[in-house]
Amino acid sequence: RTVYVNGEYLPETEAKVSIFDRGFLMADAVYEVTSVLDGKLIDFEGHAVRLKRSLDELDMAEPCTKEELLDIHRKLVELNGIDEGLVYLQVSRGSDGDRDFVFPSADTPPTLVLFTQNKPGLADNPAAKKGAKIISIEDIRWGRRDIKTVQLLYPSIGKMMAKKAGCDDAWLVEDGFVTEGTSNNAYFVKAGKIVTRPLSNNILHGITRKAVMRLAKEAQMEVEERLFTIDEAKAADEAFTTSASAFVMPVVEIDGVALGDGTPGPIARRLREIYIDEARKTAI
Ligand code: PMP
Repeated sequence: RTVYVNGEYLPETEAKVSIFDRGFLMADAVYEVTSVLDGKLIDFEGHAVRLKRSLDELDMAEPCTKEELLDIHRKLVELNGIDEGLVYLQVSRGSDGDRDFVFPSADTPPTLVLFTQNKPGLADNPAAKKGAKIISIEDIRWGRRDIKTVQLLYPSIGKMMAKKAGCDDAWLVEDGFVTEGTSNNAYFVKAGKIVTRPLSNNILHGITRKAVMRLAKEAQMEVEERLFTIDEAKAADEAFTTSASAFVMPVVEIDGVALGDGTPGPIARRLREIYIDEARKTAI
């Protein structure tokens, strides 16, 4: 793979970041994942806008302009021959060469790293035809989940707990209400109505969520944003998640309880189709 580090395109084995980098030592870094279909970027604009917001919220400098970021994404897709896959981007606060809780001076250059992941079958994904089995676990993450930081230890632990339970993923529950999935936004459908938690500091403002909510409304589907419990989701007709890397993923089981007939529901399947269709048409 050819990767990008601070202005250079290099073989992955030659790319270097300082061991004092605050991304490495303190998870002082933010990231974005943009999907690629037909060799083109899905909703680059949305990811660029959210990246800027994450950086602003943490008082981190922008590593380069949006146009430069787009060029880097495109060049990596081309150099790595990606038809379907992902582009991962990470910006850390960099380092002034030592470990210190205090931020380095504002003129310390941020560390910008991008790499691609080749994922043939991203759109025609067999996992989406099967649907995902979910467990619910307590949400013990920090309070600014709207900032897309690289603090991914708890989401990783959640996925491992799911795996150990023979499931695919975990939904997180705080004060009795579902926040989101470990790496996706969460929805259920009851009597034709799609329910999902409203945006706040407690969840990531998913780029796919925004697109899917708009497309659902355009398709005359009923959408309600409100808090919901895991028991409501278990009693639903169907459920699904959204993320840039899995688009719309049907959920067929929660905590061992099958939803509907235990296969992907019609609304989740339709939304997946509509979303991928539009994503292909608007990709750049
Ligand atoms: N919530 C969390 C916690 C996530 O990690 C992600 C994926 N990065 C999402 C939601 C979905 O966001 P998006 O649609 O922008 O990928």
